[in-house]
Amino acid sequence: MSNGPFYQGGCRCGAVTLMTCHAPLATGHCDCATCREVVGARQRVLLLWPADQLQLATGVDELVSSRIPGGGVAYHCGRCGDSVLAEYPEEALVELGAETIPDVPLEPGSDDTQEALFVRLGHRPIVEP
Ligand SMILES: [Zn+2]
Ligand SMILES: [Zn+2]
Repeated sequence: MSNGPFYQGGCRCGAVTLMTCHAPLATGHCDCATCREVVGARQRVLLLWPADQLQLATGVDELVSSRIPGGGVAYHCGRCGDSVLAEYPEEALVELGAETIPDVPLEPGSDDTQEALFVRLGHRPIVEP
């Protein structure tokens, strides 16, 4: 095990919890239609991890899945309806809204590499939020 960061989060009702020992691969602000719909706001803060760096701790049985643009599958909590995460199997990436793990420190805006990554997943990142 590394001595890296440790972050914990989950849905509002607490049924689904997840954790990671890694800093996110990318962070970004996005105002694509999907993100705006999920948070009901003009933009959403996204966090991205390699799929093997994020673990679901509890609530796997509560998750309800739906397909999203960009080839991913979104999961939300069947009890409280909170969006928990989205998986992109082909990219081996897992995406979370920052509201799911509020402790992760955010860099201001995305750099070019991170932006390209979010675009590939069907997002519309804002470079200067
Ligand atoms: Zn919940
Ligand atoms: Zn988006």
